[in-house]
Parts: sequence; structure tokens; C-alpha cells
Amino acid sequence: KGFSEISVKDINELAKSSFPLCMRHLFEKLREDHHLKHGGRMQLGLFLKMHAAINLLDIFVLDTVRDWILGHQFPWYTVWGVGLKLDDALLFWKAEFSQKVGAERFDKEYAYSIRHNYGREGKRTDYTPYSCQKIISSTPGVGDHHGCPYRHFSEENLRAALSKMGVNSRGVEDVMDKVQNRHYQLACTLTFEAVHGSSCDSGINHPNQYFSDSQKILQS
Ligand code: SF4
Repeated sequence: KGFSEISVKDINELAKSSFPLCMRHLFEKLREDHHLKHGGRMQLGLFLKMHAAINLLDIFVLDTVRDWILGHQFPWYTVWGVGLKLDDALLFWKAEFSQKVGAERFDKEYAYSIRHNYGREGKRTDYTPYSCQKIISSTPGVGDHHGCPYRHFSEENLRAALSKMGVNSRGVEDVMDKVQNRHYQLACTLTFEAVHGSSCDSGINHPNQYFSDSQKILQS
């Protein structure tokens, strides 16, 4: 079982191998600052989560039925998230935030919003991860790290981030060309192709699609 479940100890490796740049950046900033502002917590938190519907599917439905449902054409990545369950999400965020604000303040001020993202508080909406379109059209302010790096980074920072991901100088120029023409998702698609050495014909339209396509390639 455990169709898409991950645990806290997997996140480091997965971030390096399969997170799109927007999520790698948030993850690195979280590790560095032991803190993220609200917009970053939402963008990364919803990307990482395991949606309760998938969780229930995993627990209650026969493997064959579940595989049939998940094998269908519906883009499940828009719902399921990377696969971090609520308890693991609380551990993950607490490990970082408690280094900055202390464990007690984390429990008081931040744990609620994580449970909220998982539909366990407030209106009990089980929120789904953000699409590229939503992230690209967001407006990060000073000190925010959410948003789409292809749209929101300076040219210098974007070039440096692409090199760090392992994109070669020719690849960086191709990506920058798309960025200059405001084709941010195409820029991300070219990055995916450069990093994986494999084509992505459908193009990138969702961070969780990037993750899911990357995992398919790496696990094949
Ligand atoms: Fe993230 Fe989408 Fe931007 Fe890629 S195009 S970095 S997946 S928001």
C-alpha cells in the first residue's frame, strides 16, 4: 500500500531530485531560516501534503480498485500532493520552526494553520495544492519566498539557481530566453528536461505534476 506516502526523512532527497524550483527554493529557505512567512507555508505545505481522500483510498479500498481509480486519466497530482500525512507534516514543520521560535510557540501559533491545511480545523476544507497559474500570478512581498522563481527572481538569482540544479550554460540560455518572453511554464519545462535528460511533452502546469513526472522517470 502507501501509493504516494512519504516520510519526513525522504524529503531532503526528494527535494534535490524531484521538486520544481519554486518548492526547492522554499524548502532551502525553510532549512536556512527555520521559518517561512504565511504565503510560503501555504505554497510548500499544500504541495507536500497527502490529501485525506487519497489517504482514505489507501486505507479502505482494495488495491486493485485503488490502482484502477488512480490509473485513470484524471490528473490526480492536482489533488494528492507529494504524500506527507498530517502527523509527519507537524513533525517536519516543528523541527524547523522550533529552532527559531521555540516548540511552545510553534504549538500555539503555527500548528493550527498546518492542521487547517489538512482540513482538521475551521471550515474543514481539505485544501488542494496550488497550480502554476496560481503561483505565477501571486505577488510575493519583501521577505516572502513563495511565488514562481521564473517570474519573481532577478535574472542573476535565477541563473545561479539553475546552475545549482545542474542545468548547463546552453540550457540556462534557453530557459532565460523563455523567461524574457514571459513563458514561465515553458522555462520550467525546459529545466525539467535538462535536469532529467528526458522530454516532457505535456509541459509543466502544476508543481505536483513536475514532482510526479520526475518520480516516474527516476523510478523507471
Ligand atoms: Fe513552480 Fe510552476 Fe513556476 Fe515551475 S512553473 S517553478 S512548477 S510555479
